[in-house]
Amino acid sequence: MQKQLNIVLFGPPGAGKGTQSERVINRYSLTHISTGDLFRKHLGEGTDLGLQAQKYMDNGKLVPDEIVIGMVEDKINHTPNTNGFIFDGFPRTVHQAKVLDQILKLANASISVMILLNVPEDELKNRLRLRAKISGRTDDQDEVKIQTRITEYRNKTLPVASYYNLQDKLVTVDGVGSMDEIFGKVCTVLDPLYEMA
Ligand code: AMP
Repeated sequence: MQKQLNIVLFGPPGAGKGTQSERVINRYSLTHISTGDLFRKHLGEGTDLGLQAQKYMDNGKLVPDEIVIGMVEDKINHTPNTNGFIFDGFPRTVHQAKVLDQILKLANASISVMILLNVPEDELKNRLRLRAKISGRTDDQDEVKIQTRITEYRNKTLPVASYYNLQDKLVTVDGVGSMDEIFGKVCTVLDPLYEMA
């Protein structure tokens, strides 16, 4: 079996994970797993899982680990024969990261790299306020929710970067600049890994 390229695209809300993910998927033919998008899809379809997640999402809080992990595991298990995955907005806790490692190990795979998009907090807030006008996302429209999401990121999610750093898999990329500039830097990290895979 060909080795998979499995990427964690990491960063605070508004860092540009979704935008960069789209380009990465096209260039390297990977499968996109965005837990935020999956939750919004469940919500739109009115599933039980969507309803369970809704009360957390509406407040800018993280959805409990068991709910997120079950959803991701299901998606991975229903995606055979892929070149690899790009995880966008997942893992967001160290527990999620540990379980993801176990799930991939069972499939003889592992995370190849985590790319952290680094963006200062003021810039994040400006981007989220702008995005609110077009995204229709209720969690982008409210200053308190935005602040809660950033605080959740700092307290619960940032330790995930240290987890991958200990495995020598963390690469930080400056997330300020044009989309093309940032994508160029992301490709500089991924191209050599893709050739090895
Ligand atoms: P996002 O689209 O990535 O900004 O996610 C939107 C919301 O979905 C977050 O504010 C959380 O409430 C929830 N969410 C998405 N991914 C996760 C995750 N990996 N762990 C916990 N909650 C998540």
